[in-house]
Amino acid sequence: MRIARFASGGDPQYGIVELPEDGGDHPNTVAVLTGDPIAMPVQLTGERKELDGVRLLAPVIPRSKIVAVGKNYALHAAEMGGEVPEIPLVFFKPNTSVIGPGESIIYPEATRELSYEGELAVVIGRICKEVPVSRVAEVIFGYTVANDVTARDLQRSDGQWARAKGYDTFCPLGPWITTHQSLEEVSALSIRTTVDGELRQDGNTRDLVRSIPDLVAYISSFTTLLPGDVILTGTPAGVGPMLVGQEVSIEIEGIGTLLNPVASAAGPSESEAGQ
Ligand code: MG
Repeated sequence: MRIARFASGGDPQYGIVELPEDGGDHPNTVAVLTGDPIAMPVQLTGERKELDGVRLLAPVIPRSKIVAVGKNYALHAAEMGGEVPEIPLVFFKPNTSVIGPGESIIYPEATRELSYEGELAVVIGRICKEVPVSRVAEVIFGYTVANDVTARDLQRSDGQWARAKGYDTFCPLGPWITTHQSLEEVSALSIRTTVDGELRQDGNTRDLVRSIPDLVAYISSFTTLLPGDVILTGTPAGVGPMLVGQEVSIEIEGIGTLLNPVASAAGPSESEAGQ
């Protein structure tokens, strides 16, 4: 099931996305739900909308936090000039960094090195603490695609990463949350990032050094996870720059494609203003 959060005029709504590959009678539609399925049982209103006629929003606004994991693919750790850390390297991104599909990533004036990081994101479905590896599947609501946008120069200069990873718009999520996939089913998914159509990252979740169960067990050993919290599982090799005016697309097999343009914080340049 694909759970989307969308707008079509009024307040955000939730719905089940129905695609042609599902083989149903209503391809490319959204079956509207009565409310947030993370907070309440899935219940259809009976209304359907054309997928093209709605604006998809970030499928979840994390209730308390995004916990991200650094250097969790060996080749990415190597390209950053190091090895996979012995103790998992985790950091927080604020929930105010979240944007949805199609929304602009704003290039801050303080950085000269804005980078994409395509990642599989885990959406937590239940309040939980100290989850044993064997019970992690019970606390996962579903999976989505994330871009762990990073100001690489600020990451190097600041030491702490709150700014380098935490600007508004630095956590695109979407296009929807896929549910009812087993941990086995998400353990070997291709993850590909393109910039203006050019392939930059071509990884696979089978190369995660620490698995999703290991990560959820570790993170929940020190912090309570709430329904709607999001865990970013790390990025494969191939990180690099994205520039104002470019479009970044991250596709994860079986989940979906998240596309965001990059825009300038300074607003349109003088030459663009008259167009
Ligand atoms: Mg990352």
